[in-house]
Amino acid sequence: MAKALDSFLEENLKLLKDQGLYNEIDVIDGANGPVIEISGKRLINLSSNNYLGLATNPLLKEAAKRAVDQYGVGAGAVRTINGTLDLHQQLEEKIAEFKGTEAAISYQSGFNCNMAAISAVMGKDDCILSDQLNHASIIDGCRLSKAKIVAYTHSDMDDLRKKAKEAAESGHYRKIMVITDGVFSMDGDLAKLPDIVEIAKEFDLITYVDDAHGSGVTGNGRGTVKHFGLEKDIDFQMGTLSKAIGVVGGYVAGKKALIEWLKVRSRPFLFSTAVPPGDVAATIAAIDMLMQSSERTEKLWENGNYFKEGLKRLGFNIGNSETPITPCIIGDEKLTQRFAKRLLEEGVYAKAIVYPTVPKGTGRIRNMPTASHTKEMLDEALAIYEKVGRELLGV
Ligand SMILES: *Cc1c(COP(=O)(O)O)cnc(C)c1O
Repeated sequence: MAKALDSFLEENLKLLKDQGLYNEIDVIDGANGPVIEISGKRLINLSSNNYLGLATNPLLKEAAKRAVDQYGVGAGAVRTINGTLDLHQQLEEKIAEFKGTEAAISYQSGFNCNMAAISAVMGKDDCILSDQLNHASIIDGCRLSKAKIVAYTHSDMDDLRKKAKEAAESGHYRKIMVITDGVFSMDGDLAKLPDIVEIAKEFDLITYVDDAHGSGVTGNGRGTVKHFGLEKDIDFQMGTLSKAIGVVGGYVAGKKALIEWLKVRSRPFLFSTAVPPGDVAATIAAIDMLMQSSERTEKLWENGNYFKEGLKRLGFNIGNSETPITPCIIGDEKLTQRFAKRLLEEGVYAKAIVYPTVPKGTGRIRNMPTASHTKEMLDEALAIYEKVGRELLGV
């Protein structure tokens, strides 16, 4: 190993460990369901994004198996050479229908979708107005585009309007985009899309919504844009197929010309092999299910509300979530870490989220109840919260 690399790794790994920021990876034995097993220990799982339980759904598994038998395990090429199977085309038509747009393009992940789509449209003569709490993949996509990035205070519409006005009146930019998460995953709050659309119209902004945590959850399952009835007003409806949809992949839904452009200009679409057929078939089955019935989405909300009420009744601060994402705000960083550790020892898997992911002094345990949790599981988790809360916080 080069000496420079050796010393870089040694120094920086030590630094992380000294600061308590080194993340040990937990390995789960078996499926990522409502109850998981880690090192032989049974745990109520409140940390997955498998909101609707589709990751282990029997119909999706069947669809994947059938596609593997028919098409094999790999797509064989990038989409623009000959890796586009009829399945990929079906999936994109399905996504467009689901999202109420003219067309859609799918990618290998939500992360690479943001890298791909933002940089395919925005460049060095452009400006991007980005919510301060946007996801890492949005931030990286914006950086890759080389556009000027202007962060606005989280969901502060006065700040957005001010910055949009400055950018528009400066005359420096050919295009200006406003980009936001639809659902913010740390607090579970929704972007103020109606206001964003109004500001966008005033200053001719391109609108981009990353609805990774909204699809399958808000808008009767169709996402945050649908929730606000703004399908005609958002240029990029971006999402992931790996959270509520339960499989893997990312997508942009929008106007035909936009999708056409992304298909010739977004680099991961051109230079990275297409998603395997089994995954694509499972995804199609998942979206079909969501279009046929909102039963799972309703169950998710019911469980989310049940869990929220339970924590509130126990005296915890659960913040201002507008979705089933349920933060339990502890405050102090060290205490939050200790709280999560005690939950784990007692049988609940829920992650501590602390500074710098969230502001200092707002450390929290983030809980993601899903449609596949039973009331008994949630009651068991609440009893553990009660015990640990009494022990560490005196609640
Ligand atoms: C998870 C997430 C992504 C990345 O999606 P993957 O499909 O997991 O790569 C992008 N944006 C947001 C807001 C996310 O929460």
